[in-house]
Amino acid sequence: MESVIFSIDVEAWHDARVIQTMQPHLNTKKCTDRVIEPTLWLLDSLDEYGGKATFFVLGRIAKKYPNLVKEIVHRGHEVGSHGFDHVPLTERTMAETLEDILNSKDILEQCSGKAVSGYRAPCFSLTKTNTWVYESLAAAGYSYDSSVFPFSLHPEYGLSDAPLAPYYAHDNIVEFPLSCISLFGIRIPCGGGAYFRLSPSLFTKHCMTTITHSNRPFVFYIHPWELDDAQPRVGSFSVNYMRHYSFLSSTRKKLIEIFKTVKTVSFKQWIEKHRKQITTRI
Ligand SMILES: [Zn+2]
Repeated sequence: MESVIFSIDVEAWHDARVIQTMQPHLNTKKCTDRVIEPTLWLLDSLDEYGGKATFFVLGRIAKKYPNLVKEIVHRGHEVGSHGFDHVPLTERTMAETLEDILNSKDILEQCSGKAVSGYRAPCFSLTKTNTWVYESLAAAGYSYDSSVFPFSLHPEYGLSDAPLAPYYAHDNIVEFPLSCISLFGIRIPCGGGAYFRLSPSLFTKHCMTTITHSNRPFVFYIHPWELDDAQPRVGSFSVNYMRHYSFLSSTRKKLIEIFKTVKTVSFKQWIEKHRKQITTRI
C-alpha cells in the first residue's frame, strides 16, 4: 500500500469544537496546550517506521511554538495551514476567510522557511454553503485543500455528493476528501479522528486496503490531543464527551500498527507522484 496520506491537525485539546460546545465559557487562555509531547511522539514514530506526513498547523500554535514547526520541517515532513485560530469557515465572511488563510500561511512560512501550499479548514467546515473558499485559497496561493468530508451523516460538516477520490474543485486547487468507504450505498467515514479511535484496527486496515485498491489514496487524519489520555476532562457525559474522550489511551498503539503496515506519505509527496491520475473537475 503506497497511497496512505497521513496528516495531523496540530491544535490544542481546547481548540476542538466539541470542547467549545460542551464548555462555551472555558477560559482557553488559562489552559495549557499540551501539544508538544504528542507531536514529538508522532515525529519519533514516523522516523522509526520511515513514514512521512503533512502537519496542518494552527497559526496560533505556530506563533507560540515556532521551534515545533522548525522540528517538523527538519524531520522532512510537510507543513500546511489549519487557519489561525480554529474558527469554522461557516462562521466567517469571505473577507475574514481570506485574511485568516493569508495570515496563517505567512506565519507558517516564516517559521518553516518553506512555501505552504496545503490547507485544512477548522472542523472540516468546507460545505455546500461556502465553496467560494476555493476562490480565496487560489487567491492566497494555495494549491490543494483537504477539508471535505464526502458524506451526509454529520450535522455540522460534510459535502455529501463530493467525489471520493481527489478532484479539481477549482482551476488551481485540488481537493483531497477525507476517506469514506461505501457500505450498502452509505458512505461511512474511516479516515481518522474519532472514527478511527472508535473502530477496531481490523476495520481501518480493511478500509485502507479497499480504498487504495480502488486507485485512490487513503487520506488519514489525527490530532495530537487524541494521543493524550491525561488531558483535562471538561463537560458532562454526552455524545460529544464520548466522541472526544473515548479510547484516547489506545491511539498510540493503533497508530503504530498503521506505521508498521504502511509507509505513509505527505500530500506533497503524493501529488508529485500521482498528479496525473487526478482527472475529475467539478
Ligand atoms: Zn482542527
